[in-house]
Amino acid sequence: MTVQDICTCMEEFAPLSLQESWDNSGLAVGLPQQDVRKVLITVDINEAVVEEAVECGAQMIVGHHPITLSGVRRLTGASEAERTLTAAVAGKIAIYVAHTNMDAAEGGVSHRMAQKLGLNDVQVLARRGNTLRKLVVYIPKSHLSGVREALFEAGAGHTGNYDCCGYETEGKGMFRALPGARPFAGKPGERHTETEIRFETVFPSHLQSAILAALFKTHPYEEIAYDIYALRNESPTGLGVTGQLPSPMDEQAFLRLLKDVFHVPLLRHTRLHGKDVRKVALCGGSGSSLLPDALHSRADVYVTADFKYHQFADAEKDILIADIGHFESEQFTMEIFYDILTKKNPTFAVQISQVNTNPINCL
Ligand SMILES: [Zn+2]
Repeated sequence: MTVQDICTCMEEFAPLSLQESWDNSGLAVGLPQQDVRKVLITVDINEAVVEEAVECGAQMIVGHHPITLSGVRRLTGASEAERTLTAAVAGKIAIYVAHTNMDAAEGGVSHRMAQKLGLNDVQVLARRGNTLRKLVVYIPKSHLSGVREALFEAGAGHTGNYDCCGYETEGKGMFRALPGARPFAGKPGERHTETEIRFETVFPSHLQSAILAALFKTHPYEEIAYDIYALRNESPTGLGVTGQLPSPMDEQAFLRLLKDVFHVPLLRHTRLHGKDVRKVALCGGSGSSLLPDALHSRADVYVTADFKYHQFADAEKDILIADIGHFESEQFTMEIFYDILTKKNPTFAVQISQVNTNPINCL
């Protein structure tokens, strides 16, 4: 396997187009053609995990949390991120991150949490809206394939489990080049008609600049006729899930189940309502911003992490909140990575990190 093979394997499961605009998922360190004989998997990537990779003979780390979201401007060892990156480069360890794309992927972080709790009828909690755009561009027939392939390469045309999605109709485009123009076809001062293809495709809004760069690089016209539409379609993917317990449980029993399944040392929750839990909303990691979605879903309990004091107080009348801890909620992400990397090649060496990267300790 090469670094690129591992990236492809991960992205077939969780395409990078699913990541949030502020995220930094994907290949962080390493050359795509580098050989990989062993992968170390982890939730967090720090200096100790890189050392572990070197010691156990792994050439690549696959982790959940990006080493940095804000970027690194120098490598002087002044921060954990700088030390981690320096150690990875020195140890020739490639690093791949699957963060919010793994949260949003079908079968991703929250889906695995639901599976661990034995939930049925699992649905996405917060579908994404206003993230999809449509590009319509008029391309001279002779240049269709070059422009189209560049747009796909830049991430356009990806929908669910399909890529290279587009639509083409042939028609006649016309223009008259004015003095000073250098037209692709026709003569200045004369109206020209060109056989063009109207090509339509969709893309996530955060890829717009990359997609327009690919368009401008490959389209032969001086002035390209193109339209971008904001779509109101909801994406079938999103963050968090809801699901039904196989049979109702009282709240205490459900909280004990959470403690056992997620190995929670300290479970923080709002006051009990004295009713059974049937429908569960959950989100791996810091999911407090999805509380309105959990309320809207009419779930009996919302399981996530990193709730603030006032959020507990504001929600206590409406829903039972169970804050099980950030690391605890995402620990099974390592199982997802393991399954992805061994599915096609069961003998490929994949090791789960033994470093405890959870920065939160409980007394
Ligand atoms: Zn997280």
